[in-house]
Amino acid sequence: MKIIDLHSDTILGMKMKGVEDFENNDFMIDLTKLKSGESYVQALGFFDFKPMSNYDYEKFKENEAFASKMFEKYSDQVVIVKSTSEIKKYEDSGKQMFMLTKEDIGCINGSLDILKAEYDYGFRIMSLTWNFENCVAYGNTTDVPEGETDSAKFPHMNDGLKPFGKEAVEYMNELGIIIDCSHLSDGGFWDLIDICKGPFIASHSNCREVCGHVRNLTDEMIKALADKGGVSGLNFCPEFIDEKNGSTIDGMIRHLQHFLNVGGEDILACGTDSDGIGGPLEIPDFSHMQELIMAMEKAGFTERQIEKFGYKNAMRVFEDVLG
Ligand SMILES: [Zn+2]
Repeated sequence: MKIIDLHSDTILGMKMKGVEDFENNDFMIDLTKLKSGESYVQALGFFDFKPMSNYDYEKFKENEAFASKMFEKYSDQVVIVKSTSEIKKYEDSGKQMFMLTKEDIGCINGSLDILKAEYDYGFRIMSLTWNFENCVAYGNTTDVPEGETDSAKFPHMNDGLKPFGKEAVEYMNELGIIIDCSHLSDGGFWDLIDICKGPFIASHSNCREVCGHVRNLTDEMIKALADKGGVSGLNFCPEFIDEKNGSTIDGMIRHLQHFLNVGGEDILACGTDSDGIGGPLEIPDFSHMQELIMAMEKAGFTERQIEKFGYKNAMRVFEDVLG
């Protein structure tokens, strides 16, 4: 079954460790593992994560420069896709397709011009926040950011989008950027439900009812996201699957069944969070992806539901937002 994976942190991990081999490396994702795991389109996440409250656009540009060098080096094997028509165009080319995604748009520092520049670079999926406050919204964490002394100001889980955040959402709708609510505060999620035109996604979030982590979605959120035509990508992170038993395939199936029961089959999607997560993983890297598909078959998911999880639901959102 071909797979669209809506979230990975591999490219930044490679930059941080100085790894430039994208064909065979020790990360959860490389070109060889993607091929054997039957990747269709892989999201490549770009993350500007330090310092927490003062987003450094120049640092972010360094990540882009590293990635651009990588795409250049492997230009005979990889292609960046920005729409469903480009996916259709390249699907039989033999090249690995990637979609550029941004985790946390804080580095736009309140500028719609920078947001546009990032769109022009090629980003098509953007999450509004990571775990902490930025110029658009607040993250969903109970942690107090490093260096912050006034802990009474936290958490911000019920706080909604900032006025500039609402402007940014409107502009993202206009440009045709898929908005990602993973990491966003619960309050921000509900604002998005109100103001986002068309579907948005949770690229890497599970079910809070199955595993009570704040990064997961409540049943009300799952229903609202489904009504909006969005999807939620199954995250392989041990803490988001099962606090006690960690990242097992059985645990993943429990989340998928809950998504299905609460949100229906059109919300199912995959968002591994590869190389953004640690700990023992029953699916240790992308080459093992089809083991999850086999487990879905065994658990009684229909062929149609598995196809929707694998790539069809994500393609539907791509089509709706990107064209
Ligand atoms: Zn994340």
